[in-house]
Amino acid sequence: MSNIQDIKPKLGIPRAISYYNNFPFYYGFFKSLGFNIVISDKTTTKLINDGVKLVVSDTCLPIKVFAGHIINLLDKGCNTIFVPSIQSTGYKINNCSKVRGLPEIIRNIINRPFRMIEPTLDKTEGLGIKEFCFEAARQLNIKDEELIKSSMDAGWCMYNNFIEMAREGVSHKEAMENAISGKRTKKKIELVKPLSVVIMAHGYNLYDERISMNLLKKLEKMGVKAYTSLNITRQNAIDSIHRLDEIQYWANELDLTGTAAYYMLNNKVDGIIALSAFGCGPDSLMVDEIQYHAKMRNMPMLHLTIDEHTGEAGILTRLEAFVDMLSRKKRKEFQKEQPKNKAVISKINEKRVLTNI
Ligand code: SF4
Repeated sequence: MSNIQDIKPKLGIPRAISYYNNFPFYYGFFKSLGFNIVISDKTTTKLINDGVKLVVSDTCLPIKVFAGHIINLLDKGCNTIFVPSIQSTGYKINNCSKVRGLPEIIRNIINRPFRMIEPTLDKTEGLGIKEFCFEAARQLNIKDEELIKSSMDAGWCMYNNFIEMAREGVSHKEAMENAISGKRTKKKIELVKPLSVVIMAHGYNLYDERISMNLLKKLEKMGVKAYTSLNITRQNAIDSIHRLDEIQYWANELDLTGTAAYYMLNNKVDGIIALSAFGCGPDSLMVDEIQYHAKMRNMPMLHLTIDEHTGEAGILTRLEAFVDMLSRKKRKEFQKEQPKNKAVISKINEKRVLTNI
């Protein structure tokens, strides 16, 4: 007897680009529309190479990886694939040209037959989430407005659960897995770590373990607490950009400038780590901007750039050196505070003696 999942139409979702921030919404929406969701496999060296072969060499790594994920879905026999065109997420708050033109890039480089579901999100042109979802449904030949609306609600429900868990400090992986299976977990109480950093990076670079070379796990092993864009609200990020007297140029800038600015301005971390793709124009400007403000505030910053040739050993060496420098700096600052601390303690003792008399 065939499983009900087998008879539902399949919809492929590449585990790349907007997947890392939006998948719970996509999953809830398309599942509720009646699709069997197929996700591409985790990024591997083979998958990267499959993408690299198709794209011109100076394209950034995340787009090469995206192409590799399309090939992976086609190899799995999935012939309807979701490739959204996310143009702008606010009035004149645009994405980079590669994210905006993703369906066109894929159409021009992949020479295999498949059907692309390519709705447009462009708030500058009045195409919000509702229009985006209705367009996706129309391309999938679904016209039932009530079904589309209730599927949007299902998407929001999963997405909000994901965001709330992530904000409470549940790891990205756990929050994602729980959200799509309708579960809710609270963050386990963790010991206070001696050092902390904020990571400025796009979700597709940071949470793809192959691309980031497991940066978050490496920091955890070194005893460093890492904060990311998922730990703060969108409004926190926007306000922090303005407090630096800067403006938001790009749609996905909140993951970088907004997050780094928030933690830097609130003096919550010992350092900043920027993780960006080699050849990414927007990232290079945003990293420069934060580097300038970090220098003014004497906040140490490490910039890691990645491409398909980046080796794990090089990343680890630079990370270890940075963490070592942060702990030496912190120790020095603590020692400088010692005389002050001693003076306070002796004043407290003096008072105690007088009170006793
Ligand atoms: S923002 Fe940069 S890394 Fe991301 S897709 Fe655009 S060019 Fe590539």
